[in-house]
Amino acid sequence: MTLSAALPHMVTRFAPSPTGLLHVGHGWSALMGHDMARAAGGAFRLRIEDIDATRSRPDHIAGIIADLTWLGVAWDGDLVFQSQRLDAYEAALEKLRAQGLLYPCFCTRADIQASLTAPHGPEGPVYPGTCRGLSEVDRARRIGAGEAHAWRIDMSEAVARVGALTWTDLPFPPDLDIHRDVAAHPLAHGDVVLARKDAPASYHLSCTLDDAAMGVTHVLRGDDLRGATDIHRLLQALLDLPSPAYVHHPLLVGPDGKRLAKRSGSIALADLRAQGMAADVLALHLRTGRFPIGISLAKA
Ligand code: GLU
Repeated sequence: MTLSAALPHMVTRFAPSPTGLLHVGHGWSALMGHDMARAAGGAFRLRIEDIDATRSRPDHIAGIIADLTWLGVAWDGDLVFQSQRLDAYEAALEKLRAQGLLYPCFCTRADIQASLTAPHGPEGPVYPGTCRGLSEVDRARRIGAGEAHAWRIDMSEAVARVGALTWTDLPFPPDLDIHRDVAAHPLAHGDVVLARKDAPASYHLSCTLDDAAMGVTHVLRGDDLRGATDIHRLLQALLDLPSPAYVHHPLLVGPDGKRLAKRSGSIALADLRAQGMAADVLALHLRTGRFPIGISLAKA
């Protein structure tokens, strides 16, 4: 399977995790990514982020395909499944290990939470670095004994190697004529996990590698992932990958002001479909920023 269609023009993508039903916010995001590519004569790709074998479900993959097809979001090329890309993730991990940038981490969630001194970064507590100082002998012994471990990046060392980085930020709504270089702050996230105990790669690693392999030139995704872009930019620099431009759109919130969640069945696309809502009407409304009753844009 070729991931990149060798397109010189704009490539956007939608990359849902098949861990629940798509909601109105997903439909809105997918439509925007789709329309952005179409307006530029480019390609729109669909990637299923099913690397988490315990939470990903085949019925949710079928639901994503059915919902997007219903909404009129057509994608180009083959669907990409992260579960079929494990060799690429392993090769990248090997490369980073060979550069001395990864270390095994044996900590449990409870261990990390118990560390009261752990500072907080943009995405919650920053790993306190407990396993960074283990000796090679200890590491080999614990791995040899079959102790479960993740692989973390030594962030200070990685940042020291690549120096200051910026990424290209486009405004929302997307406007290709306006872009600015934003400083990346990967250090603020600490030694993030690149290979999980329970999955062969983390979201950060798989997403960065896949965007590059699929030739993605413009990533459009929610504001909740703005912090992740710091980390993705660093990985691009370490792995010699191109850096796409990024648009982070506001999230949608429900009547309670809380962001839409996959569990909120009432705003699932599948439910709107079952209630007889016309897909073209919904798509038109979403495109013009009219959301179903009770749903609005989160305030910046
Ligand atoms: N799979 C992620 C999610 O469903 C999105 C990843 C991305 O767009 O970078 O939230």
